Amino acid sequence: MSARRLAILAEMGLVPVWRLRQKSTVVASEESDWIRLEREVPACTACALHKSRTRTVLGVGDRHAHWLLVGEAPGAEEDRLGEPFVGQAGRLLDNMLAAIGLARGENVYIANVLKCRPPGNRNPEPEEVARCSPFLERQVALIQPKIILAMGRFAAQTLLASDATIASLRGRVHRYAGVPLVVTYHPAYLLRNLPDKSKAWSDLLLARRTLNG
Ligand code: URA
Repeated sequence: MSARRLAILAEMGLVPVWRLRQKSTVVASEESDWIRLEREVPACTACALHKSRTRTVLGVGDRHAHWLLVGEAPGAEEDRLGEPFVGQAGRLLDNMLAAIGLARGENVYIANVLKCRPPGNRNPEPEEVARCSPFLERQVALIQPKIILAMGRFAAQTLLASDATIASLRGRVHRYAGVPLVVTYHPAYLLRNLPDKSKAWSDLLLARRTLNG
């Protein structure tokens, strides 16, 4: 029940006031943890990436989304604008979302494992992933998504604490912090390997079936 509805019912004497207080405490602590994340991520100096970044990229979208999409790390455009998946790979991602009736920001939250761009778009280092992933863990705990789509090797291997290949992780439902998780290809990989788009489509359908099932 929403805080507003509870407040109305409390005013009418239909729910005890302590329930209202309990709900507003949860909402307030959720908000303040987002505020803390918004302050801590741009100030983070836990790894060397802070020296070369232009902007940190926390994530974008609906903070109560059912869908959480996780990519690897910001690229050049994302580093400039502070938003994930705004380059060419992002346009493909938006099209893939549209194909299953979803849109960025509407019941969807998009984040990356790393909040800072690795120079020259090199692969994330294990140390960088270890330092940065607590931010993603906090985002998952706050959003409480109903399905996580791990896009690409780094997202899948980080969230599943595995070194298995994408090919071996695709096609089944895993769990991260109790949330069902489906592995798919990274949109940047799909731009270079068009035939694998049909496999990514199957992954999206598996994620949707899992969410609806
Ligand atoms: N690739 C990613 O993994 N994330 C972005 O935000 C952009 C490109």
